Amino acid sequence: MKSITFVLLMLLSLPCYAEWHQKQFEVMGTIAKVEFESNDLELSAKLIQQVVAEMHRIDHLMSPFKTESELSKINNFAGKHPVKVSNEMFKLLKASLYFSELTSGAFDISFSSVGYLYDYRNNKKPTKDQTQSLVEQINYRNIHLSDVDNSVKFDSDKLKIDLGGIAKGHAVDQCIDILIRHGIKNAFVSAGGDSRVIGKKNDRLWYIGIRHPRDEKKLIVNLPLEEVSISTSGDYERFFVQEGIRYHHIIDPKTGDSARESQSVTILAASSTMADALSTSIFVLGSVRGLELINKIPQTSAIIIDNQGKLHYSNDLVSPK
Ligand code: ADP
Ligand code: MG
Repeated sequence: MKSITFVLLMLLSLPCYAEWHQKQFEVMGTIAKVEFESNDLELSAKLIQQVVAEMHRIDHLMSPFKTESELSKINNFAGKHPVKVSNEMFKLLKASLYFSELTSGAFDISFSSVGYLYDYRNNKKPTKDQTQSLVEQINYRNIHLSDVDNSVKFDSDKLKIDLGGIAKGHAVDQCIDILIRHGIKNAFVSAGGDSRVIGKKNDRLWYIGIRHPRDEKKLIVNLPLEEVSISTSGDYERFFVQEGIRYHHIIDPKTGDSARESQSVTILAASSTMADALSTSIFVLGSVRGLELINKIPQTSAIIIDNQGKLHYSNDLVSPK
């Protein structure tokens, strides 16, 4: 009897850690991860399923590679007549045009008018002639949205759009919303280079590292994070080198060629959609114009590694001397 009381007392005196649940899976051509704290095993299993389903749902809607996706439907017909789209697609297209205005056209989903001719896995890029004749199609002003019937229309049937610079951020926001709606307080969700954290990890802040753009084993910084989204765009994600030139997946809308001002850009922002769109845009703008813009946007920070490998921080991250 005595020993049972002793064991019970021992158990009661142990610190009570809640359970953490996590899942890693492939979606949108990358790895997604969800991690959260909950003592409800049944709810946790359900939430993991919902997060996985949500990421796949968004992929099916927005993939340029799936012929039946809503995005493919837009690309096939919006050059000919207005195409009615879902509320979710309409909102994301609207957000994309907002980021185009905000970044003086550095963010432009019509980059794909030339961008679709790159195939990074097979070292393929458009010919000079193709780029020259199609680059004028890259212009977000030629994408028209109508609030009346949620429709989208392009000025040209050579214009193509791709949401690869914003869709993963949107997916992360959607998944965090699911977790919050079910009472989860501490969580992490990521899709490729886009992550968002809420609450804490076992009473400590979350930490996310930024890798060295030219050495995947090295970390540039390890950032303590709380209630924030973080997105990194790098020229090392999808690329090939031809005749000493690096061709990668972030396109300068002005040239139709890979953007060459930066090696890596990390953005911290309130939402993942915003962090995602801004990391792609600031990568195009480069450190000087990029920091000028980021320093004007409240509660948004940047860590930029320029094309010489030099680090730049937004004003709020530079510690006062
Ligand atoms: P990823 O997480 O896929 O590496 P990034 O946030 O770094 O994504 O953005 C790169 C993706 O954004 C590209 O794969 C492409 O789909 C899209 N993209 C490339 N250039 C632009 C641009 N100038 N404006 C908007 N989207 C772009
Ligand atoms: Mg991005």
